[in-house]
Amino acid sequence: MIKYTSTRGSKSKKTAAQAVIKGIAEDKGLYVPDNIPALPFNPADMVGKPYKEIAKAIIASFFTDYTDAELQACVDGAYDSKFEAEDIAPLIKVGDVHILELYHGKTAAFKDMALSILPYLLTTAMKKEKEDKKIAILTATSGDTGKAALEGFSDVNGTEIIVFYPSIGVSEVQKRQMTTQEGANTHVFGIEGNFDDAQTGVKKIFSDEAFNEKLNSRGIRLSSANSINIGRLIPQVAYYVYAYIKLIEHDIIKNGDKINITVPTGNFGNILAAYYAGKMGVPVNKFICASNKNKVLTDFINTGTYDTKREFHITNSPSMDILISSNLERLLYHLCGGDGSEISGLMESLEKNKNYTVSDTVKTGMNDFAAGFANEQETLFAIASMYNDHNYLMDTHTAVAYKVYEDYRKETGDKTPTVIASTASAYKFAASVADALGMPSEANGFAYVRALNAKTGVPVPSGLKDLDKKEIRHSDVIKKDDLMKAVDETLS
Ligand SMILES: *Cc1c(COP(=O)(O)O)cnc(C)c1O
Repeated sequence: MIKYTSTRGSKSKKTAAQAVIKGIAEDKGLYVPDNIPALPFNPADMVGKPYKEIAKAIIASFFTDYTDAELQACVDGAYDSKFEAEDIAPLIKVGDVHILELYHGKTAAFKDMALSILPYLLTTAMKKEKEDKKIAILTATSGDTGKAALEGFSDVNGTEIIVFYPSIGVSEVQKRQMTTQEGANTHVFGIEGNFDDAQTGVKKIFSDEAFNEKLNSRGIRLSSANSINIGRLIPQVAYYVYAYIKLIEHDIIKNGDKINITVPTGNFGNILAAYYAGKMGVPVNKFICASNKNKVLTDFINTGTYDTKREFHITNSPSMDILISSNLERLLYHLCGGDGSEISGLMESLEKNKNYTVSDTVKTGMNDFAAGFANEQETLFAIASMYNDHNYLMDTHTAVAYKVYEDYRKETGDKTPTVIASTASAYKFAASVADALGMPSEANGFAYVRALNAKTGVPVPSGLKDLDKKEIRHSDVIKKDDLMKAVDETLS
């Protein structure tokens, strides 16, 4: 039985169901599995198997307190015709790389891979734990999590969903996706601040005991749909295992061969899922962590010092405009051998001094990672060259990863077959992508979607069609210190 412990050392262990309900531990740490299970199958034996079957087996390995029937219902509910690709996460060979398209869900970003199943995992957990309170999901978003969480939880019984997004920074398409969200239990607020402000504000609410008690007395309990929730992270492990099986199927590798995995990274959830896949037994040579101009992770991986004392940039890959990468805490916990007090110390230093430096042991453990960044010009150039050379359309985030991988390969000469996680449809960032392709200016983000479609012929995801014709249902913008007040009023 796998139990979940806090990265900050509090002794109480939780089942997966309990950890999914709680979202974040009472000592502000993140839940991690007390051991990482081995792959439940030999990858070679899974060739040709559908995504759902692989996902179910991977999640079952971690969530040992869920029954087979429960998990079957979860994956059946999640990975169905909502996805516009029949194989859910297609792996496409483009030039020398293998692009894992994770954006064919309802909201056209990879967040759907986990957020289409999280509501099922959570409502199942509530039944298992006989939870009688209403669950209010608080979500900070840099642009994509918010919409995916809203879609996932819209009108799910026993839940309310509240999303905070940075009012400046998200793309016009991203913003409109959220402000037009339907569902009686959905609540959306812009904040006058950036993603870090939103995430810090939400974490503060989670750890405010008095406020949580006040909500409890109203029959409400808070949880999280951010990747701090282990129910977000574990479903993401599945697609890396799936990609490995596809590489065998496509005759690119033999079972047992190593691969590289490149991930455009913000909050470190997606690449941590890749790391978990590696720990389960997927043979990985390097995890390549790609950042935009907010390159706090590049610097950290190269030096061992995490330093947020720097300027925050709004870039053309806004979903990665983050300086405080929450899930890194989980990696550090694993690398230091599960020493909660060491992690508490680092996180205290981050809060007080805005930086920390890890021990040599942790630094050595990070040798499995390589890191680099791309600035905005390089990102646009990568989109153009990929389109011109291979007639393949990438969004800005995927382009950051592609550029960083190209640099890595030039520097190292490493020819290991490489999977690049493609995290969003180009249409979510249509204005930047059109700019990259040298197209003329349009009046707004929606006109860019139409123009890009006319030029490339790549189908527009159905969730992004006619967004500008939908009714705006959420227009509140609040100050970054008013998150708690907004939650209080929304849940009154
Ligand atoms: C969220 C997001 C990322 C960053 O993923 P993390 O798991 O936060 O590192 C990258 N690209 C896109 C398009 C995203 O929405």
